[in-house]
Amino acid sequence: MTELILQSGKERSVMRRHPWIFAGSVAHLKGRARVGDTVDVLADDGRPLGRAAFSPHSQIRARMWTFDSEETIDHAFFKRRIAAAVAARAALPELRDQQGLRLIHGESDGLPGVIADRYGDTVVLQLNSAGAEKWRDALATALVQASGCVRVFERSDSDVRGLEGLEARTGTLHGGEPEGPVVIEEHGVRLEVDIRGGHKTGFYLDQRENRWLARTLAAGRSVLNCFCYTGGFSLQALAGGAASVLSIDSSGPALEGARRNLALNPQLSARRAEWRDADVFEELRALKKAGARFDLIILDPPKFAPSAAHADRAARAYKDINLLGFRLLNPGGLLMSYSCSGGIGIELFQKIVAGAAIDAGADARILRRLSAAPDHPVSLAFPEGEYLKGLLCQAV
Ligand code: SAH
Repeated sequence: MTELILQSGKERSVMRRHPWIFAGSVAHLKGRARVGDTVDVLADDGRPLGRAAFSPHSQIRARMWTFDSEETIDHAFFKRRIAAAVAARAALPELRDQQGLRLIHGESDGLPGVIADRYGDTVVLQLNSAGAEKWRDALATALVQASGCVRVFERSDSDVRGLEGLEARTGTLHGGEPEGPVVIEEHGVRLEVDIRGGHKTGFYLDQRENRWLARTLAAGRSVLNCFCYTGGFSLQALAGGAASVLSIDSSGPALEGARRNLALNPQLSARRAEWRDADVFEELRALKKAGARFDLIILDPPKFAPSAAHADRAARAYKDINLLGFRLLNPGGLLMSYSCSGGIGIELFQKIVAGAAIDAGADARILRRLSAAPDHPVSLAFPEGEYLKGLLCQAV
């Protein structure tokens, strides 16, 4: 097999089980390898370190499939990895019966570049690396076997594919198109998931626990849900007995989805819900001007900083919305504030929120630190996997 030889000293990161090999760490390739081929990875003294998928067009030149240099990368390998990931979730009571569940969380499940989300009996598969792309069929087959789902739909249309030199690709991989919209239940609330065109694989499964937390805090409160997408937090707040829920998003299709979701849940009080098609930055200012106040504010913006290079601009955007959020809180009010930017760590995020509170003249404290649900685990060897962080703050 073709050998990828690392620069001297660059074996250390691989020996700590970090799965990425950057272009600058590669000394040379012994033999030929095409896009996505499996290569043996060796230290510069010839020590075998494991096997990786080769990606000649990416700055991440190779991604480790295994740190066992004897392990063969074949259909059986993917079957084992996927069965282990599915079993790990089934072992957690809070995940066991979820209809919407992340089955494979990329690097943290030992499958770099592979995302698989289950919605009922449909798996949505997203392949984000050359290696993952190469094993599409093996992955789809193993997912059906391990999950018991009847179909696999591919949503390989994320921006990162461009960095790997891969074209976007969506469509059915197994079992045909689902009949009609895919609907899941989350904490007893029905939600339509647009697997063909929705964000990510259709839904933000990572916020499942945080939506539950919002529900437990909502009773009797006036709620403002910013960046509401298809209304996940809004509907849970209504289910929790919110007095009112104002939801803002700048995407028409997302708001249409939110309205449809509300209609799917006749048990919820629709007259307490208001949807507003607006830019959050502008609308928060307008609400402040109008003298509005809320008891619970949720800020779950899109990724302002995909990487550390965008951190400065992103920090200003986070500061801005959090500052406005604190200004709109009633005394004793709660702010749930999130960042899903890989380029902003939890320490920096907390500093930004603290700065926002000071500038807003708010005396606030952290009640809880929040993160993604446990079907989005973070491998200790791969801290980059921790992208979603949040704070539940209370103003006094
Ligand atoms: N909280 C949601 C997920 C939010 S995703 C959930 O639990 O499902 C981020 C959302 O922000 C998207 O729906 C996007 O349309 C919206 N968005 C992005 N920029 C915006 C802006 N400036 N103003 C309002 N909405 C925006």
